Amino acid sequence: SKLILDVQDLQLHFSQRSGIFGRERAVVRAVDNLSFQLHAGETLGLVGESGCGKSSLGKAILNLHRPTAGRVIYQGKDIAGLSDRSMRAYRRSLQMIFQDPFESLNSRHTVATIIEEPLLIHGIGDRESRRQRVAELLDLVGLPSSANSKYPHEFSGGQRQRIGIARAIALNPSVLICDEAVSALDVSVQAQILNLLLEIQRELKLSMLFISHDLGVVRHMSDRIAVMYLGQIVEIGDAQSIYRQARHPYTQGLLAAIPKLGSLAEDVSQIGGDIPSPMAPPPGCRFHTRCAFAQAKCKSDPPLLRAEDGEHFTACHFWEGLSASPR
Ligand code: SF4
Ligand code: MG
Repeated sequence: SKLILDVQDLQLHFSQRSGIFGRERAVVRAVDNLSFQLHAGETLGLVGESGCGKSSLGKAILNLHRPTAGRVIYQGKDIAGLSDRSMRAYRRSLQMIFQDPFESLNSRHTVATIIEEPLLIHGIGDRESRRQRVAELLDLVGLPSSANSKYPHEFSGGQRQRIGIARAIALNPSVLICDEAVSALDVSVQAQILNLLLEIQRELKLSMLFISHDLGVVRHMSDRIAVMYLGQIVEIGDAQSIYRQARHPYTQGLLAAIPKLGSLAEDVSQIGGDIPSPMAPPPGCRFHTRCAFAQAKCKSDPPLLRAEDGEHFTACHFWEGLSASPR
């Protein structure tokens, strides 16, 4: 199918205060030579522990962070070269849904105003047609029309996320970036919001980048899954294939840590050890400090993403020799 986003060797480094007194500066390598493609109508799940660079990647794609190197190509055009006008159109085509709908919604505005705002900003329609559009959007996300005149605090977390979704799709985007969109919600509500996102994605034929630390949630949503570790993709492939035949030891650890029903814990205890600082990623394979299968080569040679069958790529020197237990 049609290629929508083509992220090529993207690198996002930024300088940050460090040291005990914050007097030194260090380079945070949030995203490091990362490439992937997103096709029309496809959902790519992006999974990894907090601090692995997932959100930075989302922001770089939205052009909220300027990449240090590499390119984001949207429908054949490098976004770095877009005119102001084309950048506005780009911003309109890509929308983001955040973790905390309460923080991202203006608490002093009514729901109608919140949902209408993007239409106003982009100068779309007259008052009456915008009013109709808001009513349509409320209906689409399963909120009653009486929600219109209420304020965000009058709603539950799940309902607030519905408001956030209505606002995000108001401009008919072609790509939705969901960053931990259900992580702040109760498990019972998570399923409702995930199903709503699936419905909307099908109805509007959206491409979706679904970012989460929770591989269980990502699997529910995704056609393909990319696993990120310290700014890099360590495994990418078809969701079924990743889930049934995870090859990278890190992915296997994430799978073993999928929270049981009723638990929201970001539990990666199966993997052990802390995620190293993105200011000083380990040499060689960045995962070697936590990998039970690490050998001498892993400490010096960075493994490249390789595929056996052309679709499922893994960055591990030894995955062929590891026993990936089928699920
Ligand atoms: Fe583990 Fe080595 Fe594979 Fe890295 S390359 S995941 S350290 S076995
Ligand atoms: Mg994040």
